[in-house]
Amino acid sequence: LYHRWAGGKHTGSGDLSTFERQLDNGQAWSIYSYEDAQCEFPERLVAEWLAESIAAGAIVCNHTQLLEISRKNGRVTGARLRDRISAQEYAVEASNIINATGPWADAVIGASGISTPRMIGGVRGSHLVLPSFTGAPTEAIYTEALDGRPIFVIPWNEQILVGTTEIPDTSDPGKTQPTSEEIEYLLNSLAGLFPRSKISSHDIRYAFAGIRPLPFSPKRDLSSITRRHFLHHHTDDHVVRMLSVIGGKLTTAADLARDCAQKIGGRVRTAPGLALLSDDTLDPLLDNWVLDIAQAGAVSETSARGIVEWHGRRALDIARIALSSADMRAPLCAHTEHIVAEAVDAFSNQCAVTLADVLLRRVPVAWGNCWSQSCSREAALRVGAVMGWSDMQTAAELETVEVERAALLRKPQVVNAPLEAAAD
Ligand SMILES: Cc1cc2nc3c(=O)[nH]c(=O)nc-3n(C[C@H](O)[C@H](O)[C@H](O)COP(=O)(O)OP(=O)(O)OC[C@H]3O[C@@H](n4cnc5c(N)ncnc54)[C@H](O)[C@@H]3O)c2cc1C
Repeated sequence: LYHRWAGGKHTGSGDLSTFERQLDNGQAWSIYSYEDAQCEFPERLVAEWLAESIAAGAIVCNHTQLLEISRKNGRVTGARLRDRISAQEYAVEASNIINATGPWADAVIGASGISTPRMIGGVRGSHLVLPSFTGAPTEAIYTEALDGRPIFVIPWNEQILVGTTEIPDTSDPGKTQPTSEEIEYLLNSLAGLFPRSKISSHDIRYAFAGIRPLPFSPKRDLSSITRRHFLHHHTDDHVVRMLSVIGGKLTTAADLARDCAQKIGGRVRTAPGLALLSDDTLDPLLDNWVLDIAQAGAVSETSARGIVEWHGRRALDIARIALSSADMRAPLCAHTEHIVAEAVDAFSNQCAVTLADVLLRRVPVAWGNCWSQSCSREAALRVGAVMGWSDMQTAAELETVEVERAALLRKPQVVNAPLEAAAD
């Protein structure tokens, strides 16, 4: 069915048997090949939605914290906000409020003194990012971990992404980290699948975690908790015109947004149909688009491809920025094809406020294979030069990147004795 929808070709059994040899650990495998979609950079998807919502008339306030929901006679009237960059506080009026703060949803409600039964049961998922290894899969694989839970091993961003775990977590979602047990579990599961990989904990480039905002379901097994979303009306909590979003996924986010808009009386257009194209049709179109962008921006084909893949409809605007000067066409660091013009566009059109916003969430090169402190420094200098930053501002922007990157993507200190020995 997947093949038919995606217009894919049948993968020959030769590919599968080569792959099976890489998994040779004395176990009999049943391997199936199917096609699925992957959102390589969810940050880019969200940035696209942000730009689309602004175009549709939304006002977006990045780095703004909701401090308290204001109410009068049991009805919401607005909110008190704080700009986290300037530390300035201000009030806004609102006739409806949608609390879409994911794993923070209960904390936001609690801070406003609204009493609601607990909505979210946070479940942490951790990931490892490793360099590619001999025999690493060239396609995403979805399989079982040592304990039979589903895990994936995905070639991603010129590295290998391994995930994930399911651990109840009620800590601050902004500070959650993979534990050494989770790292060991993922690493052992990977080694169990690819016994010849000789991967050890020293090889881990970084590990990161996030909290899934699942519905609070204390009696359920974690993997059986629904991934569907629910909208909680706070009318039962004596607050009218306020909704909280519980659960949800990126794949269903557009549907959820329509659901929310409908609930507050907005006009909702039906979802446009999907055009599915096979690779044979799509690739030549993409290649032509890349050539057009390379010409329009006077950039290399590799840079043009990077711009097309990450910025889609904004590609031509970015190419025009690139055309304006050689500094705009410079790569963000010596190892990437992504260029300064993309960062400038992120500041102008995608609500980026700090250089960390740009390098981690708009032009997410800082998740890449090459990235190091010296790449951050190069990027800060190159972007600072075209943005007209002073030396002090450049240094401050560089610090935002390094502080956030170090907090988000940590190289773990775990040592896994059996695997270390195998690697030696
Ligand atoms: C490990 C893991 C794996 C996942 N895998 C998939 C997958 O394969 N497919 C899929 O579709 N989805 C997946 N998801 C789910 C997807 O990432 C989440 O559904 C999605 O991030 C939830 O979006 P959200 O906007 O509700 O919450 P979040 O993305 O968490 O955003 C909430 C936002 O609210 C902000 N906030 C919090 N408090 C305040 C405040 N007081 N004022 C202002 N802002 C505030 C936070 O800063 C944050 O930006 C996964 C999630 C995790 C953690």
